[in-house]
This record gives sequence, structure tokens and C-alpha cells, in this order.
Amino acid sequence: MSADNSNPEAHAGNFLRSIIDADLSRGTYAQRGWGGAPGAARTHADAPVDAARIRTRFPPEPNGYLHVGHAKSICLNFGLARDYGGVCHMRFDDTNPEKEEQEYVDSILDAVKWLGFGWDAFGQSHLYFASDYFDFMATAAEALINAGHAYVDEQSADQMRSMRGTLTEAGRDSPYRARTAADSLARFREMRAAQHADGSMVLRAKIDMASPNINLRDPAIYRIRKATHHRTGDQWCVYPMYAFAHPIEDALERVTHSICTLEFEDQRPFYDWVLARLADCGLLARPLPRQYEFARLNLTYVMTSKRRLKSLVDEGIVQGWDDPRMPTIVGLRRRGYTPEAIQLFCERIGVSKADSWIDYSTLEIALRDDLDPKAARAMAVLAPLKLKLTNWAYVFGSTDHMEDCSAPVHPHLPQRGQRNFKLGQEVWIENEDFAEVAPKGFFRLFPGNKVRLKYGYVIECTGCEKNESGKVEAVLARVVADTKSGTPGSGSIKVKGVITWVSVQDALAAEVRLYERLFSDPQPDAGGKDFKASLNPHSLKTVMAYLEPSMASALPDQRFQFERHGYFVADRVDHSAARPVFNRITTLKDSYTK
Ligand code: ATP
Ligand code: MG
Repeated sequence: MSADNSNPEAHAGNFLRSIIDADLSRGTYAQRGWGGAPGAARTHADAPVDAARIRTRFPPEPNGYLHVGHAKSICLNFGLARDYGGVCHMRFDDTNPEKEEQEYVDSILDAVKWLGFGWDAFGQSHLYFASDYFDFMATAAEALINAGHAYVDEQSADQMRSMRGTLTEAGRDSPYRARTAADSLARFREMRAAQHADGSMVLRAKIDMASPNINLRDPAIYRIRKATHHRTGDQWCVYPMYAFAHPIEDALERVTHSICTLEFEDQRPFYDWVLARLADCGLLARPLPRQYEFARLNLTYVMTSKRRLKSLVDEGIVQGWDDPRMPTIVGLRRRGYTPEAIQLFCERIGVSKADSWIDYSTLEIALRDDLDPKAARAMAVLAPLKLKLTNWAYVFGSTDHMEDCSAPVHPHLPQRGQRNFKLGQEVWIENEDFAEVAPKGFFRLFPGNKVRLKYGYVIECTGCEKNESGKVEAVLARVVADTKSGTPGSGSIKVKGVITWVSVQDALAAEVRLYERLFSDPQPDAGGKDFKASLNPHSLKTVMAYLEPSMASALPDQRFQFERHGYFVADRVDHSAARPVFNRITTLKDSYTK
């Protein structure tokens, strides 16, 4: 697998766009009717030509929260529909009653909307549920039985497995394969009528037990599951298998390009088999949808398995699905990622048919590229050390004097105005900005050295105060008169270091959550590895910080660049004016060197 971090050509062209371009120029779908709602052949037969030039779909199973991998699929499917004058259907593939819940439906809809996409197009909503097609699917199953393309098998799961053969060995026919259509139909109706136990029989497609593609060795298409479904309740006790349901969902909805991840490549012949048989029976309209596969997103330092993400939540390793360290959409959102940054990331990584790992930094770079031109700047001190300006009263006439200072809200956007704060006798500086004995190349505070307090005055360090154990408790310095930033002559004294600060008097105390990667292994769960062995113990560090006073009006979800530290967001859950809480989204590209 190769690292494929940036692909500037991605948007301009990818293999899916070429396929769509070719279909449009050939008019593959040009005469396709749309009956105004999903439906069987007759719904679309005499309907007007579809105003949507293409139809794609995003088809999650509502069994968990979406993650950054789903974002790739969302941006791809909704993005293609947008760019080609089509529609992308928001469809829940809710055919698995045990694992699905309304909570997940709601969170998925929220995530897609937040990412910037919607399913209203051509005057109607395109929000669909596979469970709405259960009646049709059962009818389709019966049609296959009647046409001799499906049979009820009463072998046990173990027997079926042992008869399936291997990659090198053909499978063997079930003893039930030769039963008559009438017999299979009767058994299937008994299955539907709850007359048989879970697992006692299944409906199988009758294709070819010797096919080199194991997926064509009479795959199961319906099973008995006496389970309550989150939408259809106890109406059904048989449920269609994914591989059977999915092509039908696509065809009922008149999807043109059904885009899925590479694992489904071997399922494509069955996808086509189902659709062709049902179109031959007159149940589904042609032209039929076609399936295309792309490589799923693998992101370093991240797991994208719903099951494993769930275990992080269930075992309390993270604080919930929306923990800012989670690669879920809700987690990324709470961390401070913007929808635009995620869209930009998806555009840059592009789509291909080759599996690869994308470096996590690609996502962070997209975030910085999005936020740099937008985020208001602020000063913040994350590891505070007190600095006392010992000649303050002498220079300004009083120890209480506060000197007005200002800085641009955004360095490149003067129209966004200035932020105001004050410099007083005591200020907070970063602990690391003082050294009693300066190491080589250290240009910040040490006795005898001058630095500038950013947007303020030049100061000269004179020493420090220590407690009994020798720990530095305060740095001492003298302010140099007439050196205030932006005033005439302020540049008369040249300094090599500029440090950030906030005044003790007007600082806003805040909780700041410094996040790092959740895992220290770039591929935490690859090859069956125990991902818990590589949890990063430093993934969350909480500090009490001091922020410049303009941060008192920060609203939840508002993002800032704390100068020199990186990008931060007011936490959407815990932040309030009374108790400010900020999350570090990511550090700045270049670490602070001066
Ligand atoms: P599971 O099958 O375990 O429930 P899933 O991740 O496949 O999980 P789905 O709800 O079936 O979840 O996924 C919805 C859509 O998102 C599918 O079309 C799937 O192909 C796509 N998808 C899921 N994971 C990724 C990924 N890592 N990269 C790109 N697309 C993905
Ligand atoms: Mg899936």
C-alpha cells in the first residue's frame, strides 16, 4: 500500500467521473422515467423522463455513528450528484433489525446535513428507507421462486457451509435444490407466517454451486429473524439479506450509479444477476443501476470499524461517540473540524480503485487551509508563569496603570478590525519562554536579554523569584519606555524574540483540552492487532489557561487561532461564558521557534 497524500487532480477527473461522462454522452439513462417515488417497473413505465441526470445514493445501515470513512462516501455520492445535475438519495439500509436504532438514524441525518449536503432536489425529498420496500422484496423473492430461480433450503447453517466448497473446490448441491417451485413457495409462505424457527430454513438463489465466484453459489436471500424492527415493528419475521436487498433498493429508486467500496467487487455479479432476473419478470424497470467500486478510506492513527469504535465507547476508553478524539463525524465536529475542511480533505484524497493509507496530516492540513483565512486570532497562555514588570509605576506613574494595546482580529483582513486588551504590571507568559540559563539559540527571556511582548512593549529580563525548593515562581523584567508596538520609534530597539502573553488583570481563565492522537501506532488495528496496546496515554491533557479578554464573548463551536499554539474551538457541549472550555483542534503547521 502506498501513501497517496495529495492528489490535486482528484476533483478534475477520477474514474467515476469518466464513467458518468461516458454514460451522459452515450445517453445511457437519457430516456429513463421517474415516477415521482421509488417503485416497481410500472411506477416508472409511463412516467416523464427523470429530471435528474444521474441518481446516486448514500446507504448507511443505522447501526452506529458515521465516521470519517463515511464522510468520503458522502462527499463522493452527494458531490457527484451536485456536479452532474443529479440527485443523491439519503437511504437507510435498515434490513438488519437487531442492530438498528432510531438514535442512529437521527445522528446520521444530522451528520450528513452538517457536512453540507441535503436530499431535497427537484421539488421533493429523497429520504428513503429500505424497510419501506419489504413488501416488494418479498414479492420479488416469490417471483424468483416461481421462475425457478430460488428455493427454500432446510439444511442447517453448518451443513450449508460444508457444502459451499472452497476457492479451489466446487460446492455441492443441497438436497433441497431440486424441490418444485410450488413446494418452495409454500415453505417460504410458512417462513413469512412465522411457522418456523430462526435459522431452520433460508431462501436461496438458484445459480451455480460450481461457480468460481463463491458469492454465486446459491447465496441466501431471505432468512427468518423473529426480531422487532425499529420501523416495521413485528410486522415481519423474515428479512432480506444485504446482497439481495441492495440491488433492489437501487433499482426501485432508479439509481444510475451505485457506488460502493472494493469489498463488494465480488458481489457485483450477484447484484447484476438479481436485477436482470427481476427485470425479466417485469418487476423492475430498465435501464438497471450499475455498481462501481472504489477504495475505502484508510487513515493513519485512526480506526474506521464501527464495531471497534463502539468498544472504545463501551469500555470507557473515550467519553462517548462525540469524544473529540473519535474519528466519528460527531467527534470531529466537537473537536472543531469544519464541514468545509472535511470536504476539502475528501476532494484532495480523491477516489481510486487502489487501496492506500492516507496520512492523518492530510486531514489536519485541510483543516488549517480552511481555518487560516477565517479564524479570529487571540493570545493564550497555556502553561502560565507570572512576569512582573518592576519599573511599571516608575514608567507609567502608578502600579495600577493599564496600557491599552490592540492587534488585528485577522492579520490579512484589516476590515475585520482590531481586538483590544490591556498590558499591566503583571502578565502571564508561557513557562517555556523563560530560562535562567539560556541554552544555545534561545532568544526568549533570560537575565540580561530583551524581548518584545507581542503587540506591547520591549522588556528586559532582570532575574526571577524562586520558592524554597528552587522553583521559579515569577520572572522579573523592566519595561523599556517608548517601545510600544505601532508607535513612532518602537523599532529603535531590535530584539530577536517576541513572546505572547496576557495580563493578569484582564485575563480570562479557561479550561483548555489539548488533544493528541488516540493511538501511537499508525495502523492501530491492522492485521488483527490489539488496538488497545497502542492507546496513546497523552491523548488528552487538560490545562488551566489564560486567554485574552476578547475570548469572553466566544460562543460554542466558534473557532480561533491562538497565536503560536494552533487552532481551538469553544467546546460545543461544555463551554459557557461562566465556564469557558476550549478544545485544541490542531497545532499550527510550524512549531514556534523564536
Ligand atoms: P458495517 O458494515 O460494519 O455496518 P460500514 O462502515 O460498512 O459498517 P455502512 O453503514 O454500511 O457502514 O456504510 C455506508 C456507506 O459508507 C457504504 O456505502 C460504505 O461503502 C461507505 N463506507 C463505509 N466505510 C467507508 C470508508 N472507510 N471509506 C469509504 N467509504 C466507506
Ligand atoms: Mg456496510
